[in-house]
Amino acid sequence: MAQKKALISGISGQDGAYLAKLLLEKGYEVHGTARDAQMSTFYNLQLIGIKDQITFHSMALNDFRSVLQVLDKVKPDEIYNLAGQSSVGLSFDQPVETLESISVGTLNLLEAIRFTGRSIKLYNAGSSECFGNTGGHPADEETPFRPRSPYAVAKATAFWEVANYREAYNLFACTGILFNHESPLRPERFVTKKIVKAACRIAAGSSEKLHLGNISIARDWGSAEEYVEAMWLMLQQDQPEDFVIATGETNTLEDFVAAVFEAVGLNWCEHVISDPSLLRPSEIMVSRGNPAKALQKLGWQAKRKMRDVIELIIDAEQKSKIEG
Ligand code: NDP
Repeated sequence: MAQKKALISGISGQDGAYLAKLLLEKGYEVHGTARDAQMSTFYNLQLIGIKDQITFHSMALNDFRSVLQVLDKVKPDEIYNLAGQSSVGLSFDQPVETLESISVGTLNLLEAIRFTGRSIKLYNAGSSECFGNTGGHPADEETPFRPRSPYAVAKATAFWEVANYREAYNLFACTGILFNHESPLRPERFVTKKIVKAACRIAAGSSEKLHLGNISIARDWGSAEEYVEAMWLMLQQDQPEDFVIATGETNTLEDFVAAVFEAVGLNWCEHVISDPSLLRPSEIMVSRGNPAKALQKLGWQAKRKMRDVIELIIDAEQKSKIEG
């Protein structure tokens, strides 16, 4: 069988790195894009030791010509669209950049696939943020979207673009509606990594305080390394369909903080300060997912829950300190 070719947009990010590793292990030829591939260090790929096995291309998703050019050059069998402004918090400060990179970006990819006329399969990185507040109801593929941030609005738009192109033009395109997933590769801008880093510094003697916004919010936290497998599985099905990917276990941010500090031998109450300047203009209070369809159709189920993921990130953080 001919070697399959995959193109990953946003390969420099957390998910891009783990997905590239998985696809290389499965024998794929892996191509990855960054907005400026010559300037990027691809640090995550270097960290997990696969950088020299990937072919890089510059691609600006909001520029149709650039997208078309890369598709024409690479001629991929599968595209994984992971690029775009990915922070909910930042999306309140950069709403236009967020909307363009996610919704115009996804539309350009769909149009370029259609234009090439090739049978390219597309995975689109959707988000549980689209559901908004469900009142504690576990969201599944039928749950309506009520986005509460510019990021979620952009992801909801991209979701419907994918659904529309699938229906209208018979493209093999699907969206994975992924709940939060974490790993040692998460940047510190995200609260989970910020908490782990601060707790490790305090445990090592720092007298700093950790400033956090609303810690009563609740999320479903899983492992990025496991979630990329679900992305790949979606493109191996006979029919393109959307899937919710979650662990099914929801915890508050306070639970997360307590578990991190406990793991490094500290009591979080002595080190955390509530900071109203970190509150978001609008927030999802409880995020709950129902991944039953993924288990039934993809045979995928999360093995690692919040505490396992915390352990992984703390281990990596402490090792990186030892290794300098
Ligand atoms: P990252 O932020 O780690 O990576 C996203 C990549 O997108 C970056 O490496 C960057 O690549 C590119 N990018 C960033 N900002 C822009 C922008 N303004 N315009 C165009 N490209 C940009 O994200 P993750 O790996 O964590 O997530 C992958 C995808 O999954 C994202 O689309 C994210 O929104 C989505 N998602 C993630 C979840 C999570 O919990 N991690 C949950 C649900 C969805 P470069 O700078 O090299 O161009």
